[in-house]
Amino acid sequence: MSGKYILVNDVGTTGTRAVIYDGETRVVAEEYTELPSVFPEPGWTEQDPIVIYDKCVQVTKDALKAAKLEASDITAMGIATQRTTNLLWDRNTGEPVYNFITWQDTRMADECERINRSAFFKVLHVVGGAYGKIAPLSAGLKRNPVGKMLVAAAHLTITPAMSAPHVRWVLDNVEGAAAKEAAGDLLFGTVDTWLLWKYTGGRVHATDFSNISSTGMWDPYNMDWSSQLLKPFGLPGKMVLPEIRETSGDFGSTEAGLFGASIPIRSLVADQQAALFGDACFEVGSVKCTNGTGTFIDMNTGEEAIASIHNLTPFIAWKMDGKTTYMLEGMISSAGSSIQFLRDNLCIIEKASDSEECAFSVEDSGGVYVVPAFTGLTAPYWDPYARGTVIGLTRSTSREQVVRATLESIAYQCKDVVTAIQEDTDIEVSMVKADGGASQNNFLLQFLADILEVKVERPEMLEATALGAAYFAGIAAGIWKYPDDILRIHRVEREFEPKMSPEMREKLLGGWKKAVGRACGWA
Ligand code: ADP
Repeated sequence: MSGKYILVNDVGTTGTRAVIYDGETRVVAEEYTELPSVFPEPGWTEQDPIVIYDKCVQVTKDALKAAKLEASDITAMGIATQRTTNLLWDRNTGEPVYNFITWQDTRMADECERINRSAFFKVLHVVGGAYGKIAPLSAGLKRNPVGKMLVAAAHLTITPAMSAPHVRWVLDNVEGAAAKEAAGDLLFGTVDTWLLWKYTGGRVHATDFSNISSTGMWDPYNMDWSSQLLKPFGLPGKMVLPEIRETSGDFGSTEAGLFGASIPIRSLVADQQAALFGDACFEVGSVKCTNGTGTFIDMNTGEEAIASIHNLTPFIAWKMDGKTTYMLEGMISSAGSSIQFLRDNLCIIEKASDSEECAFSVEDSGGVYVVPAFTGLTAPYWDPYARGTVIGLTRSTSREQVVRATLESIAYQCKDVVTAIQEDTDIEVSMVKADGGASQNNFLLQFLADILEVKVERPEMLEATALGAAYFAGIAAGIWKYPDDILRIHRVEREFEPKMSPEMREKLLGGWKKAVGRACGWA
């Protein structure tokens, strides 16, 4: 078994990594390089597709070299990618007509706002919103199919992060793009689709269900393209959409000349969905919390796409063996980035990891609360006008207490999202699996367990995204059987049990709510 190797490309926004695992998911080699972004105008964020491709090829070659393996030693490859970021390219020449426009890009904000205010969307929001007010009264109201559609309708808004507005912008603003589209020569793709097309020498134009459900072009309830979100932009028109395949399966093979031998590609998957799988959250109700720059909390909701009264997003987690699994997601925009803020802006810690010792060195935060609403607050507050706040300072407040309060704010925000997920799903969360760079912090995970009042489990591999892609690829290649083999090889490093008294938890959460109230609506 350990003679079989899985290669993963984990393509994020700030960097791309190639990891080679053996049959017991031990890391044999790992290489990383940064990916540049370009910002041609305020609010525009783009990435060069040729640079992304070249850097992915380079880290892959470097990883093979570091592992002292040949491409022919690799049993299967998986590709996990940042979501939504998308591209149009010419099917004949293979040339992109423009850069990737990323999920952070806001160039179409005004146009999206105009569509959201149109009569059609207004009616949806008013009717759906009214139902959303009574839906929490009972599970029956939340769950019946018509009610579910109404709740979903209330939150059907077009955001500038979605792919359709970006495509429209390219067709309207890039010379020659509209003519190529009219001729049926333009292929659409997210990062996974582009890499697959390039790796296979233009033979396969496909994506998987987790990636397509993250573009905002796909209706997860009806499992079809979303006409409500495509039509306002005059799409798809003659643009060629990718074939959508199961997350774990056959995506063709890399061209033999690229890495020295052809490598079978056996999985494409979106990053947060990959992390949910990488954390072995296979059961309905299981939850993972990825603490990176931001925090992404996802619950496996099984075969049901949940319409959220808190405006959380139902995504397809994966599709395997003909079965679709969904997840409900809440995103917190500032988490690990608030630790970077302490390091780089306030200069009160030298390294992110110093925050742990600082926090443990004081008994409590002395009544200080930090609300890291640098760019507003996301789930479940949705207040773009909230701003960062430090409150409760006294003459005796120490640096350590401010650091501790900042770490605590990550856990409080997680609590708010987990509460919203519980209300939407009527599923009591009984344990959380925490991955991502900031999950190295023992103080953070202990405080998270205390505030959530559930066990927090830290896997041995904090890079759950790459691991999840490896699992999917290995399953398709027949190395592992799902779920038994994965559960057998999945390793937990440490568990954090809740220890805080209920009175203390109540008191702290009461203070947090007050602090959030002060931060909201500031800008
Ligand atoms: P991303 O994938 O979003 O780039 P990572 O998973 O690599 O993020 O995690 C990096 C983030 O985690 C940074 O924002 C950093 O400040 C934070 N971080 C890293 N180590 C620690 C630590 N020991 N304690 C707290 N935060 C940390």
